This record gives sequence, C-alpha cells and structure tokens, in this order.
Amino acid sequence: MRPNLKPRALRLTITLLVTTMLVLSLTACQAAPATTTKDTRTYVTSLYPMYVAALNLTSGIAGVEVVNMTGTITGCLHDYQLSPGELTTIETADAFIYNGADLESYLDQVTANYPDLPLINASAGIELLDANPHVWVSVSLMIRQVETIAQGMAELDPANREAYLANAQTYTEKLSALRDDLHAAIDPLPKRDIVTFHEAFPYFAQEFNLNIAAVVEREPDSQPSAAELAQTISLIRDLKIQAIFVEPQYAADTAQTIARETGVPVYTLDPASSGPLGDPDAYLTIMRQNGEVLKQALR
Ligand SMILES: [Zn+2]
Repeated sequence: MRPNLKPRALRLTITLLVTTMLVLSLTACQAAPATTTKDTRTYVTSLYPMYVAALNLTSGIAGVEVVNMTGTITGCLHDYQLSPGELTTIETADAFIYNGADLESYLDQVTANYPDLPLINASAGIELLDANPHVWVSVSLMIRQVETIAQGMAELDPANREAYLANAQTYTEKLSALRDDLHAAIDPLPKRDIVTFHEAFPYFAQEFNLNIAAVVEREPDSQPSAAELAQTISLIRDLKIQAIFVEPQYAADTAQTIARETGVPVYTLDPASSGPLGDPDAYLTIMRQNGEVLKQALR
C-alpha cells in the first residue's frame, strides 16, 4: 500500500494542475476578442456543399480555416432557426459563405447581428428553376458556385488571390471529370422517370435529362396526406415507374409504404446536403455513388 501512496498523490496533483491549466487556457481563449488576437482567417459556411467547396478552395493556404456552421447536422436546413451556438460561430467568421436562393431563411438575422460581416452568396447570378434552392445538386451549377466563392475569397484576401484561383481551377477540373463520368453512366440508361422524396433534384434532373415524375414530400419531414399518397401510388403504377428514390437525410417510412403498395424498389439518392467533416472529396464521392445507384435503378 505505502509505496503506492506517493505516486498516486503525485498523479492527483499533476491531474489537478493540468486541469487547472486547461481551464485557465480555455477561459483565456473565450475571453480573448476574436478580432484582435486571431491571426487565422475563418470562413464560416452555412451548408455542407459550401463547406466542401471552401475546403477545396483554401487547400494549402496557410492561416485560413473553414468551419461549417451547423457541424454535421443533416439535411438542407429549410426554415432553419439559428441556435445561440451557431450565432457565436458566425461571430468568429471573417466571411460567411452561404448557398443563397433563399435557402438560408435566417440570413436577415445574420446581417442584423453582424452588419459588417462580408457575405459570399454562392448562387449569385444563377437562374433558378421555380425558386428551388438546391442548385449545388447540378454538377455544372456546383462549378459556378465554386467559381463565385473563389472570386469572393480572392477579393476579401487579395494576398492569397492566386492560390484561391488556382485551387478553383483544380477543383472545377475534378468536377468537370465527375460530370463527364456521370453523363457516361446516366445518358445510356433506358428509363428516365424518377420519383423523389424532397424537391432536391430538379437541377440534377435537368443536367442529366431525367424526368421527375413525382415528388412525394415537397418539404422535408412533411408527411403526405392519405389522398396525396394514393395519388402518388396510382401515378407510379400508371407511369410504370421502376424506382423510388429516398434521401439518406430523411426518414424512409413513407417510401417503404409506397414500395409495399406498388412493388417498386426504393433506392437512396444523396443530394450531398450532409457528409463527413474534413473530406474535400466528399461531394465527388457522393455524386459518383448517385451515378452507380441510377445505373442500377434505371437500366
Ligand atoms: Zn432541401
């Protein structure tokens, strides 16, 4: 017993010391005003695809970081309410990068709280289909968004202008190759009608010449009424639809009901509105996977 006492006491003292130091340093961090002591340029993004774009655009640039405001929260955050923690995250931003096209209904709150915060609207200049905000699901429009974000970063941080533009070139080349591969996978498929669950795919369908025959839940998490469900089921039968597509971000129970009623299989199509943090290739991976799913479903 006795020989153990001393090391244990020492360990305890060390633990207490370390804890105290940790608490002190954390307190110091929180107390420090972000604008004066911060030597890192922080881009805060509103949505996962903007986060992935910004990761690529800042690759290899020292003193620059990208933070996704909502962390790994899934879905595309329609009618989203900002939490106090998210407002604090925006407080640390040197610029706020958002999708635009009215997806971020809380944007007025951001500008009211931080009137001097530079904003980059990734959808600026993009013509919308029926005011639909899911612009990034089209690879061509994702390329436009990447270019717009790169221009915004280059203006805000002219010292790194060339690096942002070079990164934009590198990433848009990867996106172009992705678009070519998706055309090669999807263009020859004999079936063109798809039924989706939330209105995330019109830009993708337009780009790859698919027809969205029906959207089951126009808003995420809005359950269709019994009449709407019956209508969808008869439409699927009439059009001889071969596949129903759900998104990984939303519950699939309605899709399972339709699948049971119609015998049509359910596949997962991912609008890339969520994914792993820190993976700059996530959008490419997700969209390639979508290509594989469509090849299976529409052959
Ligand atoms: Zn959405």
